[in-house]
Amino acid sequence: MSDSAYGALYVVATPIGNLDDLSPRAARLLGEVAVIAAEDTRHSARLLRHLGLERPMLSLHEHNEAARVAQLAERLVAGDDVALISDAGTPLICDPGFVLVRELRATGHRIVPVPGPCALVAGLSAAGLPTDRFTFIGFLPAKSAARRARLESLAGRDETLVCYESPHRIRATLEDLAATLGERRVVLARELTKTFETFLDGGAAALLARMQEDPDQARGEFVVMIGGAPPREETDQASLEADQLLAALLAEGVGVKQAASVAARVLGGAKKSWYAQAQALKDAG
Ligand code: SAM
Repeated sequence: MSDSAYGALYVVATPIGNLDDLSPRAARLLGEVAVIAAEDTRHSARLLRHLGLERPMLSLHEHNEAARVAQLAERLVAGDDVALISDAGTPLICDPGFVLVRELRATGHRIVPVPGPCALVAGLSAAGLPTDRFTFIGFLPAKSAARRARLESLAGRDETLVCYESPHRIRATLEDLAATLGERRVVLARELTKTFETFLDGGAAALLARMQEDPDQARGEFVVMIGGAPPREETDQASLEADQLLAALLAEGVGVKQAASVAARVLGGAKKSWYAQAQALKDAG
């Protein structure tokens, strides 16, 4: 179905904080479409007021999205243009709209992206972590056990990992990051484009300590960016050096328990696993 008499769905990115980030094209289209489908109409009414616009709106959120598809398809068939917006940033990116876009595309409707702000892209663009490859993991699970399991499943990935996080869970997520991925570099982009925009850079444990000192650092909205796993040769080299240290200690007559304790102090990690490694070296040699 590609009939120019039909309307188009415009998927319009809106600001993630700074209203000046709305593109002129987005502003023009929001003023021209017949109807705006918005995640929260009251929230988006404020944006429209700021633009001096008054357009018919209808709500489209996770609870009514499936039901809205037929209604909006009818509007397109009648020749009306429709805009889809969310509360902030790019629709469909951890926001409603996927079901609508999937169904309208499957039935051949014209869908036009109107790009603009997106928190994960803004965060990555200024974090100083590699961006040639990254994996966006959306929001991590709310419960710690599930969150740790998800992080453990990603521990071997060597590309940058990116997730969204709320102020209620940022500390718990940093704790789980420290426990599962160790001392990786983590960059937190907080309150992007807003008055208190901050980038914090460090290991998860150091960032937690920073929030302990200054609780304001745990307020607001976060993009969490995590450095990828170190390249394989580095890991191999590190484990070779660890073996050499343990072997040298054992050769000097140091006991397995004490060698494990020295290795844990010098190289970090759990004493228990160093103990197993030292014992294996002693048994082998
Ligand atoms: N569609 C949005 C986008 O394009 O980025 C994301 C919507 S998602 C429901 C909201 C999450 O995005 C927040 O919990 C936060 O993790 C992140 N986020 C949104 N605005 C942000 C900002 N100004 N600074 C940092 N993170 C932000």
